[in-house]
Amino acid sequence: MKGPGTLMEFMDMYQTEEDCRQALFAHRWPDGFVCPRCSGRRAYRLKTRPLFECAHCGYQASLTAGTILEGARVELRKWFLAIYLLATTKKTLSSAELSRQLGIVPQTAWTMRRKIMQAMSRRDNELMLLGLVEMDEAYVGGKKPGKRGRGRRVRPRWPSWPPVALGAGSPRPTCRWWSG
Ligand SMILES: [Zn+2]
Repeated sequence: MKGPGTLMEFMDMYQTEEDCRQALFAHRWPDGFVCPRCSGRRAYRLKTRPLFECAHCGYQASLTAGTILEGARVELRKWFLAIYLLATTKKTLSSAELSRQLGIVPQTAWTMRRKIMQAMSRRDNELMLLGLVEMDEAYVGGKKPGKRGRGRRVRPRWPSWPPVALGAGSPRPTCRWWSG
């Protein structure tokens, strides 16, 4: 995924929580959903949480499991913006500044900043693939930016709203499937 080159591009790419979820989905399942437990290719999308329930085994797979965003209560948009700001700011952005820019309490900003900075120093996959960090490799890894091989990327199919709400006793939902 190509990352935003400018703040304006960033704003265009991630206007809503939905945009962020789609980016996470594309990162996690670039070729369409795959159940982590049974490798099933079909899933229901849960309405209220960023979860996908495997149609075969019922496993609920999270968009953010195993990433620094796991369990995050702050909006994804704020996370994305924090990552963007921290990745592109030449001088180190303080957590106080982050708190002010994002309108979040200082303690939360401090935690987010720490997680993001740690992930950057590890060059975590999730950040790289979100396209938010690879745009500035000089910052991340000290490497000169250069051409990188781009494999064919299949754009994941993203079911359109309204999604399916799953609940006990609800009739078997008819919904859009998507598979790889
Ligand atoms: Zn499954």
